[in-house]
Amino acid sequence: MTGSGKEKLVRVARFLSPLRGFAADEHEIEYRRDAFTGVECRINVARSKRVKQVEEAEEEVAEMIKRTREGCFFCPERLKSATPKFTGFYEGRIVVGSSCAFPNLFPFGKYHAVVTFSEDHFLDLHEFSVKIIESNLKASIAFVNAVYKYDRSAKYPIWNWNHLPSAAASIIHPHVQVLVEERPTPFQRRLLENSRTYFEGAGRNYWAALVEEEKAVGERFIGEIGSGVDGVVALASFAPLGNNEVMLIFKGVSSLANLNERQIRNFAECLVRVLRCYKKSGVNSFNVTTFSGSINGGEEDYYSLHARIISRPRFRAFYTSDTGFMERFHYEWVIETMPEDVAERMRKFF
Ligand SMILES: [Zn+2]
Repeated sequence: MTGSGKEKLVRVARFLSPLRGFAADEHEIEYRRDAFTGVECRINVARSKRVKQVEEAEEEVAEMIKRTREGCFFCPERLKSATPKFTGFYEGRIVVGSSCAFPNLFPFGKYHAVVTFSEDHFLDLHEFSVKIIESNLKASIAFVNAVYKYDRSAKYPIWNWNHLPSAAASIIHPHVQVLVEERPTPFQRRLLENSRTYFEGAGRNYWAALVEEEKAVGERFIGEIGSGVDGVVALASFAPLGNNEVMLIFKGVSSLANLNERQIRNFAECLVRVLRCYKKSGVNSFNVTTFSGSINGGEEDYYSLHARIISRPRFRAFYTSDTGFMERFHYEWVIETMPEDVAERMRKFF
């Protein structure tokens, strides 16, 4: 069973609180550990209610969107003259529907592309349609496959979406970053190794077992779009890496490079629903990443492609990132949202 790998421990912090005239107050802190992923986190939902010394400044945000629109390299007037072109594995830029893929001007990988969604300089969360996410994914996958065809050592693709500066995006215009790596990232390596070990011991795919178990328990299961091998399942992670985290698990594919039309559409449909729920919850900034097996690596039996999406602090002209020392230095994630509550809120959108 995968359930044995999930550990939960509750401890209570007690103090005399100035918020209650120095009467006794207590906070429940839940420590969680997922033995499979190795992720450990601590959750105190009361932290989301704490006073933040930042003023809401919607006008400043609207002003920033307007100001950045004027010199934006990703907007149609400047894209062709201001963005780089691929060379070697492909000549020029890759255009699919409303999306355009081109090299990252300041790459941190040998094959590192930027892929826009559309000509829109700014899109709020509820404005992302299945259609533009699909065209972005198709352009991204076309880039991945062009690289792999040219260089067989580049076989680990990653699709990354930082939306707005509070999620670490340096450009407002919606875009993703796609990398094709020679080696898996440290967390990706751990997922592949542990999935293989699980398969050798249990004789089945860990991710299929996880989906089955979460569906049966019901606490964190959100929904499923599509059916059979084309299906994509949405779950709230037991031990998340960020707030409001949702995992999107593909049922019949291990690598991002091998997605068919229906799997792309179902994944885009899931993202649209998560973003609608985020919008309703007051979230306007988020990160998405994919965890993909290698291209043509024969990992289908024991590994399933999946993605994680987390919310980030509200984007404003003067914003605060929620990534502090615990996350950056200790590899331990301080979480403000309870996975089971996330599942409950998300279900209405599936
Ligand atoms: Zn723009």
